[in-house]
Amino acid sequence: MKEKKVEGESIGIMGGTFDPIHLGHLLAAEEARERYGLEEVIFVPSGYPPHKEKGELSHQEHRYLMTIIATINNPIFKVSRVELEAESYTYTVDTVAYFRNLLGPDKKIYFITGADAILDITTWEGYDRLLDMCHFIAVTRPGFSLDHLEEKLKSLDYRLFSKILILSIPGMAISSTCIRRRVKKGKTIKYLTTSGVEHYILKNKLYSQV
Ligand code: NAP
Repeated sequence: MKEKKVEGESIGIMGGTFDPIHLGHLLAAEEARERYGLEEVIFVPSGYPPHKEKGELSHQEHRYLMTIIATINNPIFKVSRVELEAESYTYTVDTVAYFRNLLGPDKKIYFITGADAILDITTWEGYDRLLDMCHFIAVTRPGFSLDHLEEKLKSLDYRLFSKILILSIPGMAISSTCIRRRVKKGKTIKYLTTSGVEHYILKNKLYSQV
């Protein structure tokens, strides 16, 4: 007998800097929701990541507000300030532990982020503990070499390998970097992100100096 998918037993945590959030992120979250039957997807804009230089990212309140604006129409997309309230470096292991504590031991948690970030997971603080708490969805976009990804995944230990799921988003070659570059050159970013985010960027003159 085919196993019935029980709604409401899994959630997604969508981690990233979201500088800015774009349609590729939203599509990935929606695709993950559908494929893994996620009850909700919680977007978690990065706070103060240890691997980024201070000043490299836009102010966290801008990144938070753009994420709120982009997700406002979707009731199952939520946005968390958990990493933004932290006073020092923020680590995914602490973020997932926070949600594990909040949701209890039975809920399945999927941590969703870019495939290139996930491939470096063995360098993340407390990654072994992280493995006990969640699965990972590694999002790729056109131009990302799947052969390279598979090769790298196979080189990981089995426990890690078995917890990483690959989600390819076809036809969505949008990146935050490309949006920032276009703004700097004065080019349009229409249809790369939501119109609310587009207007927020222009109104606050984000990325025009980068
Ligand atoms: P990033 O600089 O924003 O992104 C790295 C790459 O992944 C970029 O190509 C990016 O594309 C893509 N990406 C990021 N978030 C995505 C998402 N939710 N869905 C699809 N693609 C996404 O991010 P990062 O600083 O590497 O970190 C990503 C996540 O991993 C964050 O939640 C971060 O806290 C976590 N992380 C944790 C540790 C740690 O605990 N020590 C270390 C590294 C990363 P775009 O530029 O288009 O977004």
